Amino acid sequence: MVEKQLEGRGVKDERVLEAMRKIPRHLFVSEELQERAYDDCALPIGEGQTISQPYMVACMTELLSLKGVEKVLEIGTGSGYQSAVLSSLSAEVHTVERIPSLASRAEQIFKDLNYVNVHVHVSDGTLGLPEQAPFDCIIVTAGAPNVPGPYIDQMNVGGRLVIPVGGRYAQTLYRIQKTSEGSERQESTACVFVPLIGKEGWSDS
Ligand code: SAM
Repeated sequence: MVEKQLEGRGVKDERVLEAMRKIPRHLFVSEELQERAYDDCALPIGEGQTISQPYMVACMTELLSLKGVEKVLEIGTGSGYQSAVLSSLSAEVHTVERIPSLASRAEQIFKDLNYVNVHVHVSDGTLGLPEQAPFDCIIVTAGAPNVPGPYIDQMNVGGRLVIPVGGRYAQTLYRIQKTSEGSERQESTACVFVPLIGKEGWSDS
């Protein structure tokens, strides 16, 4: 997976590659899907949601430029796999999921695998997580119609936000860096995520 799907497509951050070599991705999917866990695609995790394609996880994580000292907010816990990658590359991870059953399943996996710096919250992640702000990085793993205002407000100056923005069925990945004057936006790649549903996102229909 790492050599062909990640290095082969230009992912260079050695810390990201190493984390994804080590983390047992098959433990984040159901038993029936374990033999497909390292395939080059997203997979269903129940509740109409997905574990993201390995390349997309690597690409988004690389865009955060993590050094190991950051406090990170992830929106869309899903299977918990992206949170596990973040956990091994940063100091502290807060991950928000709107579907309680997915949040509790991921929380159990973090306990079993001893990922002690990941904290799971059940709420509408389009509002960020004001009680834990400010963050050094925010990563959104569902597609948003626009960039929710709370994300920029809840980041430190210099902080990085990685978010898919666009239509309900196809988006573009952006890296947005908060500056003292405002923010700088850089376009990355085309992507397809399930919708970010909530007050500052899509409606649930
Ligand atoms: N990061 C996940 C992983 O590694 O498996 C992939 C998550 S899946 C592509 C997107 C997740 O975002 C879903 O679990 C969905 O329920 C969640 N989601 C959508 N809107 C949300 C919101 N407003 N707040 C929190 N989670 C949300």
